[in-house]
Amino acid sequence: MNTRLRFLASGLAAALVLSGCTQTAAPGPRLASDAQIETAQSAPVVDETAIAMRWNERLAPFTIIDNVHFVGTHGLGVFLITTPDGHVLIDGALAQSVPQILDNIRALGFDPSDIKYLLNTHAHYDHAAGLAGLQRASGAVMIASAADKPYLEAGRIDHGPTQDAMFPPVRVDRVVGDGDTVALGGAMLTAHLTPGHSPGCTSWSMAAKDSKGLPRSVFLHCSASLGGQSLVPEAYPGMIANYRATFAKVRGMQADVFLANHDIFFDLHAKRARQLAGDRDAFVDALELQRFNTEMEQGFQEALAEQQAAKR
Ligand SMILES: [Zn+2]
Repeated sequence: MNTRLRFLASGLAAALVLSGCTQTAAPGPRLASDAQIETAQSAPVVDETAIAMRWNERLAPFTIIDNVHFVGTHGLGVFLITTPDGHVLIDGALAQSVPQILDNIRALGFDPSDIKYLLNTHAHYDHAAGLAGLQRASGAVMIASAADKPYLEAGRIDHGPTQDAMFPPVRVDRVVGDGDTVALGGAMLTAHLTPGHSPGCTSWSMAAKDSKGLPRSVFLHCSASLGGQSLVPEAYPGMIANYRATFAKVRGMQADVFLANHDIFFDLHAKRARQLAGDRDAFVDALELQRFNTEMEQGFQEALAEQQAAKR
């Protein structure tokens, strides 16, 4: 082949590849610069709550059940769902947690560049600040609810005690509504809008199999704690109604494996200790979702009554 023909042939090949790219995904530019992501990643963790709750302390990664893996920190849940066609990662923890999340994924034998979808429970910085760095590392499509998307793309939430906590903004490529699904390599995750804790708080469910091959439903709860947010007056309009609707909705749900984005909400370390001691299904507890919902609802009612009384 002469030079001119080779040039034409390679040009044609390039054009084919480009058209293939635009058809499968057309991600816009990243919203955070490399410098912004790297500065946030290397900033010291100074937040008192973050330090007390061990939000950025390393925890060795492990498999929770089936293809669901824990790749987060001591205090923050980050979940990897692996499939033969690529992986799904839920939540980003702190910006400073990104290097350890990537290390954790590799330690389990997976490649961060195989992450196809990034999901989020809610746009508070302790679950969202690492997303921009993870999107940069993986090139994954970011999926979130319509109500929390503006906060993710602004790099801050506009109400509550964390409203001054800026984080690298992350581009949201796809918006999910209640009941929408994300399918990949035989796995299917369903979005459940459970607003209250944030306006677009999104829980995720999926099917898995336990060590005996029995089908088990997995439910990752977005959160229903107050997180120091005011109910009277509401931190955002419609907050009280949101919480009430979420408590009622979750009351009608069942899950065999309950997961949350903070260690304390699902007794992570005790279960992991039982797993290490030989209980391969240590994360199976069919009553835990309802216990959590009842506990959170009681806490909400008490806080609401107290705050209403204080205003009288
Ligand atoms: Zn939160």
